[in-house]
Amino acid sequence: MLRRFFSYYRPYKGLFILDFSCAVGAGLLELAFPVAVNTFIDELLPGKDWPLILLACIALLAIYALTTVMNYVVTYWGHMLGINIETNMRKKMFDHIQKLSFRFFDNNKTGHLIGRITNDLNDIGEVAHHGPEDVFIAVMTLVGAFILMADLNLQLAVITFIIVPIMAWVIIYFGRNMTSTYHNLFGNVGNFNARIEDNVGGIRVVQSFANEEHEKVLFAEDNQRFRQTKLMAYKLMAKSSSVSYMMTRLITIVVMICGAWFFIQGELAIGEFVAFILLSNIFFRPIEKINAVIESYPKGIAGFKRYLEIIDTEPDIADKPDATHAGSLRGDIVFNNVSFGYEADRPVLNRISLKVNAGETIAFVGPSGAGKTTICSLLPRFYDVTGGAISVDGTDIRDLKLHSLRKQIGIVQQDVFLFSGTIRENIAYGKLDAPLDEIWTAARRAHLEDLINSLPDGMDTIIGERGVKLSGGQKQRLAIARMFLKNPPILILDEATSALDTETEAAIQQSLAELSVGRTTLVIAHRLTTIKNADRIIVVNEDGISEEGRHEDLLNAGGTYSRLYQAQYNA
Ligand code: ADP
Ligand code: MG
Repeated sequence: MLRRFFSYYRPYKGLFILDFSCAVGAGLLELAFPVAVNTFIDELLPGKDWPLILLACIALLAIYALTTVMNYVVTYWGHMLGINIETNMRKKMFDHIQKLSFRFFDNNKTGHLIGRITNDLNDIGEVAHHGPEDVFIAVMTLVGAFILMADLNLQLAVITFIIVPIMAWVIIYFGRNMTSTYHNLFGNVGNFNARIEDNVGGIRVVQSFANEEHEKVLFAEDNQRFRQTKLMAYKLMAKSSSVSYMMTRLITIVVMICGAWFFIQGELAIGEFVAFILLSNIFFRPIEKINAVIESYPKGIAGFKRYLEIIDTEPDIADKPDATHAGSLRGDIVFNNVSFGYEADRPVLNRISLKVNAGETIAFVGPSGAGKTTICSLLPRFYDVTGGAISVDGTDIRDLKLHSLRKQIGIVQQDVFLFSGTIRENIAYGKLDAPLDEIWTAARRAHLEDLINSLPDGMDTIIGERGVKLSGGQKQRLAIARMFLKNPPILILDEATSALDTETEAAIQQSLAELSVGRTTLVIAHRLTTIKNADRIIVVNEDGISEEGRHEDLLNAGGTYSRLYQAQYNA
């Protein structure tokens, strides 16, 4: 996993080298001060040579200036490195999510996914920047300090350094369990997001059921769980940083005691004694740095793991390597012995065969849950058939490039999903680069002109989240306008008007009829009057296709269709 993590540095090699070398340089220069103090006290001060003293101070100033520049580079460019890596991961994750299939979204909560893109990756940048460099600098500073100490007094250096590994072990021991805690923490954030998403998204339902109290209780539970996990993380953090503080200060005490003893023995000069204490204080930095890495690393890694879970999810619907571009489809559709189930042990469609000619309008009727929507969602490959095959213009749809297939199928559903934005943007979703006059033409053909003209901002009117500011009929017209713009040869109308009152339905029906001219159209309808004129009506029930024919023929045949029809209109 670490190797995969480091592969994300590849595009930023230059930044990494710059940041790393400056960090290392600044770390090394840090060691200059104790050495300078030693020289100052033991050599320069006794010599009382003013010019030399001033010269030494100027040299020290130069070193500090250089360190300042290097620290600036590390803070700014180092973080840039981290942020670039984080941004790149976020992009990769978002791009990958676009490829995942309906089945994935059936099984994953929106809030969890939002959490992964936003929160989970928040600490990655910090870790990516600090992780490798801090560990390296820490080790380097320790080694450098040891060399300098050994040069002053080998025995004292050895004594000091015997304590270091013990200390490091104690610190690491108290910092364990962090990764799992952070993993839980992110999971909780995900639950959290999912809960808020559900609540805010469904707030109108919540209020109409007056179930606010119930929602509050559910939220409070998640909120408490979140608090608990977070508290646990902070407890671990507090424990490990206190331990690390105590341990590092212990070193100073040991150095003071031993140093004093060596001084009394006459084996250590005052300047050397001071330098020793300063050097042992330099330890704090690397050890605390390692400790910070120990603290933040689990967070970053927990986020990275959750990131990989998404990135490693293979889309179950994707282009074959030799898939061909669909070209301009005529719209001949053949279902050949198609079987399908959402779950392996629960078949929904069983060996359905059906042929639709280009330009034909076919209507599906039948009880709710029979599988009408399912049949239609197999055509754009929202799901792949588990048996048989579907072909368009004689080519198996699995041999076509997914993108080129979907661009040629238009779907209008019962609940239209509109994006928060303007009317214009929502219509243009059918063809992103459409010029304004084309958008207007589509709007006119969907009979939206009067509405748009009556609005103060016209085309640029903001329609609210998911189009809350529009009526059901208006939303449906917008969806139709979108289709006129998309202009696909194949059209699926899935209960497009079922949610509307009969009067609005009749009006919209007219637009839909205009829309379906010259296109292969699959209509699913609840109210049978709306499909009377279909070229063929197909009755679907749990066992598959039970009847097929024109309206009059099916009525005369006296089967399921005629019973459904009588029930709706002669009751
Ligand atoms: P219809 O459109 O005829 O009312 P559907 O095609 O929507 O019926 O549903 C057919 C069956 O498939 C139903 O039993 C339904 O519960 C099931 N189903 C529909 N969508 C899904 C899904 N995304 N995951 C699992 N089962 C589903
Ligand atoms: Mg349906």
